[in-house]
Amino acid sequence: MSTQLMSHRHTQLFIPELVYFEPNALEYPKGQKIHEWAKQQGLPIRITPSHNRITNLPGESELEKYKIAKRTLVVGIRKTLKFDTSKPSAEYALPIATGCMGHCHYCYLQTTLGAKPYIRVYVNMDDILNATQQYIDERAPEITRFEAACTSDPVGLEHITGSLKEVVEFMGRQPLGRLRFVTKYHHVESLLDAKHNKHTRFRFSVNADYVIKNFEPGTSSFQERIDAAGKVAKAGYPLGFIIAPIIWHEGWEEGYAALLHRLKEAVPEESAQDLTFELIQHRFTKTAKRVIELRYPKTKLELDETKRKYKWGRWGQGKYVYPDEQADALREFITEQIFENFPKANIDYFT
Ligand code: SF4
Repeated sequence: MSTQLMSHRHTQLFIPELVYFEPNALEYPKGQKIHEWAKQQGLPIRITPSHNRITNLPGESELEKYKIAKRTLVVGIRKTLKFDTSKPSAEYALPIATGCMGHCHYCYLQTTLGAKPYIRVYVNMDDILNATQQYIDERAPEITRFEAACTSDPVGLEHITGSLKEVVEFMGRQPLGRLRFVTKYHHVESLLDAKHNKHTRFRFSVNADYVIKNFEPGTSSFQERIDAAGKVAKAGYPLGFIIAPIIWHEGWEEGYAALLHRLKEAVPEESAQDLTFELIQHRFTKTAKRVIELRYPKTKLELDETKRKYKWGRWGQGKYVYPDEQADALREFITEQIFENFPKANIDYFT
């Protein structure tokens, strides 16, 4: 993997290098607030008619442009208020941001965002929350769950936007609405006093040491994440862990056993009573492989189709997952470790 990226691994609050505003964004209080913040930070500010029109990002090579894009913030309006579905973790994806400053080699945003890896945040929260309300009303009296981390890591951007707290508090007032999101960042302070009413499940993405060290540059360390998980649990949020991507590597059994053991030490007893796990094995598409090899040319991520099982995609191209034997071994072992350490936990799914 890129030692250069490793040495830049930082867990400071994210500060972009460049900030774009779509003109209408400045008509919203949130847009004005972010503008003020960017000015105070002394960041270069540009106006763009639309995020689609950003073509002149600095950088000599494609790789350099990519790295700069990952540190470029675009403040705009969310126009599409039709939410995507978000199985299996929720009914809908709630869009508050798109893009992420992390450099996880395996991240599916590499493919889904393609040539637009910059970070977009949306200032029209009223529109987004009104749409959320409609989705909740449509399904009443069923409960509707929303996932806020489908296209971003919203905790890592919260100091800039404050949007996640707004959604948490909105959902706290909804008898039939529930929120969940996942993060690899530990900057949770501003969310601790949110009136969540236990309607938000706060999940942390965790993994074996090997995975965090080799494939997750630019995110908070394991220790930082579990310290944050402890704080979130004390603030009364329902807590969850997503172990993803589960990666077959030399010593994986020790790695995942150690992970569960360390989680047990960190999670307060009350939270262990209502804890969820979501397990996602590593998968990749042919497109993802191509992009990853360009952007992280030295990655140790194993992307060998011949070692994988091809799983047909219902809507798009198929994915390469582990052959059944390996997938079963991973699932069984990790499940066992979970129940050994957290007998009352729920495993929501393994996929
Ligand atoms: Fe992708 Fe999450 Fe890593 Fe960000 S933190 S790069 S969203 S996997």
